[in-house]
Amino acid sequence: AQPVDLADITVRYRADGPPALDGVRVDLPAGRRLAVVGPSGAGKSTLLAALAEWGGSPREVGGLLAEAHVFHATVRENLLLGRPDATDDDLASAAAAAGLLDWVREQPDTWDTVVGEDGGQLSGGQRQRLALARAVLLDPAVLLLDEPTEGLDPAAADEVLAGVLAAARGAVVLVTHRLRGLAGLDEIIVLDGGRVVSRGTHAELVETP
Ligand code: ADP
Ligand code: ADP
Repeated sequence: AQPVDLADITVRYRADGPPALDGVRVDLPAGRRLAVVGPSGAGKSTLLAALAEWGGSPREVGGLLAEAHVFHATVRENLLLGRPDATDDDLASAAAAAGLLDWVREQPDTWDTVVGEDGGQLSGGQRQRLALARAVLLDPAVLLLDEPTEGLDPAAADEVLAGVLAAARGAVVLVTHRLRGLAGLDEIIVLDGGRVVSRGTHAELVETP
């Protein structure tokens, strides 16, 4: 996969309005882990959408976008979406990364459990983990994660984020509200009003001299 180096990402939803993103640069050499933080409306989701659009195929640039979705289908089918060639070992690794393995162990027929229209018998946390496991299984060159730990309690959020980052083999772009768990990332971009207001390592941004 080619490294991503986009020098000037500008996105307008309306021709007469201010841009949702205004000249943002994203540089992602192979394997780079980037976090994007900032207040609601800063342009974080728009940035992921722009990267996904630029990347073309979800196997190149894809993952968990703003509309984390589980489908009315079995757990296995939900995971295989986009990766029909995945083996049972691949499924188990992805489930483990997203913290679903205990559930799978406790309930051997989990793979064949049908997820209802509105999530059915899966809790909100399980749905979130299932969507995350699918993103991990997709294993794209650039993994996009929009608020991957939304709805999980803090301990689970830390565990799941660590699991997913460990499992991802390509570059990662993580949108989050939480600064916790970002110390191991290569770069943090702070967006506000569609512009980069600050960028650097966790140490540079969070630790005061
Ligand atoms: P976030 O949780 O990232 O802040 P929002 O709740 O603001 O997202 O937005 C949820 C959805 O609504 C997104 O898909 C976003 O693209 C869309 N959206 C946000 N703002 C607008 C707007 N001004 N007009 C139309 N759609 C919007
Ligand atoms: P964030 O993810 O940081 O909350 P977004 O990327 O969702 O921010 O939104 C950035 C800006 O673009 C906001 O002002 C939002 O209202 C606007 N916006 C987002 N999606 C749409 C949309 N589909 N149509 C119009 N405006 C949108």
